[in-house]
Amino acid sequence: MIVSQDSLSLIGNTPLVRLEGPSQESGCEIFAKCEFANPGASVKDRAALFIVRDAEERGLLKPGGTIVEGTAGNTGIGLALVANARGYRTVIVMPETQSREKMDTLRALGAELVLVPAAPYSNPGHFVHTSRRIAEETEGAIWANQFDNIANRKAHIVGTAEEIWTQMDGRVDGFICAAGTGGTVAGVGLGLKAKDEGVTIGLADPYGAALYNYYAHGELKAEGSSVAEGIGQGRITGNLEGAPIDTQFRISDEEGLYWVRRLLAEEGLCLGLSSGINVAGAVALARELGPGKRIATILCDTGFRYLSTLYNREWLESKGLTIFPWLMQKEEA
Ligand code: PMP
Repeated sequence: MIVSQDSLSLIGNTPLVRLEGPSQESGCEIFAKCEFANPGASVKDRAALFIVRDAEERGLLKPGGTIVEGTAGNTGIGLALVANARGYRTVIVMPETQSREKMDTLRALGAELVLVPAAPYSNPGHFVHTSRRIAEETEGAIWANQFDNIANRKAHIVGTAEEIWTQMDGRVDGFICAAGTGGTVAGVGLGLKAKDEGVTIGLADPYGAALYNYYAHGELKAEGSSVAEGIGQGRITGNLEGAPIDTQFRISDEEGLYWVRRLLAEEGLCLGLSSGINVAGAVALARELGPGKRIATILCDTGFRYLSTLYNREWLESKGLTIFPWLMQKEEA
């Protein structure tokens, strides 16, 4: 009998799947880490666990303490689950413009929500600054600070990168993914380079983010926009500092959606848009490296989190995006 000794050990050690369509289309072997298989259904469970463990080890978080973070998404979900398992309170600060689903999910998990008006980063009322202030003012609280706290990328150096290396039998030619905090691309990049300097690390950047121009031309400059959630960064976060990016691709929402659609229709994988953008990036990297290479990427979260957006006909229509053919069918009365 094989049993996990506690719920937190269910985080990480996710399966690696060979993606048939992307492999066929690119002439390379494309593999993907199934991060939707984490308990909170996203890659961010890993960062949440490492941030909490690091704060415990440094004596900052004591029994009954509080974890505060400014996030509307997957990190909040990961933190709430880890906090429940370790006996902490979670306070999540989010802009009131976020989707109802996200608020409902965080409330359902037991997180306390603080809603603030949407404001630019330079405004002290911005949700990230508000979360830092609440942490400072709350007895026994830590500020998770996922963007600049490098416990985030450590989760990917010692976890995700090691797992990819082992699961691919040490034969890895390239790795690529998009960046939100940058913890995944920097951590997996550093971890794989430590195994083999020759692994090519790629960044798949959505429109509206500034990193493509930074790595290509040394200038943080954003162009266009994207509806992808959880990715798209405008600055070099603490986690991105020293990230070993060798090559970068700009990926449109439609390119990402193309793979979201195909992976669902042909391989039965229901994913979010950042996963589709990563797979589009893997195909682009495969074309750059040439046929026969072995490339890894990340399937960041489950599509079930986006039923009212990516998988909703009216929403896709309102954004001018291609509608999945099966969403066009009329239901029988
Ligand atoms: N995809 C989704 C759906 C996410 O929530 C995140 C986290 N912000 C990412 C990708 C990017 O991960 P990271 O923060 O490690 O760059």
